[in-house]
Amino acid sequence: MLRKMFQRNSFHIIKYRVRRTVRGVGFALGKVHGRRVRLAALAISSALAIGFVVAATQGDRTTYAVYFNGKQIWQAGSQVEIVEALQSVETRLAAITGEEISLIDSISVLPADSGAHAAGFMGVDTLETAIMEGLPNVSEMFTASVDGRIIGATDDGAALLRTVKEIVDEYRNENTVEISMDGDIVMRSEYVSDGLIMDIPELREALRRSITVRRADQVTDAVQIPFDTEYIADNTIYKGDEKISVAGVPGVLNVTTKTYYLNGEAQSQIIISSVTQAEPVTQVVLQGTRPRPKTASYGKYIWPVKNVVLTSNFGLRKATIGSANHKGIDVGGSRGTDIFAADGGIVIMAERYSSFGLIVQIRHDNGDITYYAHCSELLVSEGERVYRGQTIAKMGSTGRSGGVHLHFEIHPGGGEAADPLKYLP
Ligand SMILES: [Zn+2]
Repeated sequence: MLRKMFQRNSFHIIKYRVRRTVRGVGFALGKVHGRRVRLAALAISSALAIGFVVAATQGDRTTYAVYFNGKQIWQAGSQVEIVEALQSVETRLAAITGEEISLIDSISVLPADSGAHAAGFMGVDTLETAIMEGLPNVSEMFTASVDGRIIGATDDGAALLRTVKEIVDEYRNENTVEISMDGDIVMRSEYVSDGLIMDIPELREALRRSITVRRADQVTDAVQIPFDTEYIADNTIYKGDEKISVAGVPGVLNVTTKTYYLNGEAQSQIIISSVTQAEPVTQVVLQGTRPRPKTASYGKYIWPVKNVVLTSNFGLRKATIGSANHKGIDVGGSRGTDIFAADGGIVIMAERYSSFGLIVQIRHDNGDITYYAHCSELLVSEGERVYRGQTIAKMGSTGRSGGVHLHFEIHPGGGEAADPLKYLP
C-alpha cells in the first residue's frame, strides 16, 4: 500500500553514467551507459536492499542532491552517506507503518554543485523530516505510548495530556490513599502512520484498555461488638421467670481497612488497625430459682370457661340490657358451668355487688384485676389465694343480666378495663 503510494509519487528517475566506484563501498555496478543502475550489493549490512540511480560528475569534489517528489530535499558528499541515510529513514518508516518500505522508486539522486555542499552539513533528520512531510499517510502527531507501544495519536497535545491525567484520576475517590499506574504512558511528538490518529474519546478508551491502575482505598468503619449475657441465679424470682438487671449495650470497634484495586476491581484487603471506641456492656439476667407457689401469677391468662361461646364483645354496643359501653366480654353457657381463675392471685371481692350480681374479683401479682360476674354460686372468699385454672364460681344470671352467661373483665394494673381478647390466648 505504502509502496504503491511511493511509486505513485515517484519522481522520474534520471539516469546517469557512473564512471567510478566510490571508495569504501563495494558497488557492483553494471554497465550503466544510459541506463538506470541499482546498487546490487552494499558493503554495509542492510536488511533492505536500497537501490537508486547513482550519479557522478567529473572532478574530485562530487556532491549529490537527493530529490523526493520533485523537490531537492537533501544533499550529501558521498553515495555512502545517501545509502546510509535512506536506510535509516526506511528503518524509521518501517517502525512507524509496520511495513517494509523501499524508497528506491521515490528518490532520485543527481550530481550537485560542490558549492551547494558548502552550505553545510545536513543531518539525516533533515532528510527524514522532508520525506515524512512528503508522505500523504504519515503525519507529525502527539502520541501516547505504553511500554514502548504507540496506543494512539492526536494533534491535540493538551487534550491528550488532560486525558491521561483523567484516566488515572477516574479511579480515585475520597478514600484513595495510593494510586499508581503499571507502565508509564509516554507522550511525545513524532511522525506516525495516520491509522493511529484517533479522536480524544477513542484515544481515552484505547489508553484505558492498555494501562493498569493500582489503587488503595482506606476506610474506617464502626463495627458493633456484640455484648455478652451473664445469667445469675436469683431466689427472689420464681423458677422459670427471668429479669434483666443490667441491659446489654453493644460496643463499638473502629476498624480501618485498606483495599487494593486493579482497574477498579478489589483484589485484596488488609486491616490496618482496629481501635475499641466503646467496650460492650454485659447484659445481666436474673434467673429465678424460687419454687413457684401454685397460686402465683404467670402474668399470662387462660380462658375462664372451658367451651367458649362469645356472646358479646368489649366496647360500644347496642344496649338492650346492661351498659352501652361494654367493659368486658360475655361468654355463654349453661347455668352451673365452671368458671376458672384466668391466672393465680388473691381474691379481693367475692359477693353480690350491684348490677354485677354475684361477682369474684382477683388481683394478680402484676396488679391486673379480673372480674367474673353474674355467677350463680361463688366457691372462694375474699382474701383467699387461688391458682390459675382453679374453679372459683359457677355460671349464672344474677344482677343485671338477660340470661345465663359470664361477664369477664380485665383491668390492667388495676386501672381502666381493657379488651380481654387482647390478653387471652
Ligand atoms: Zn357483660
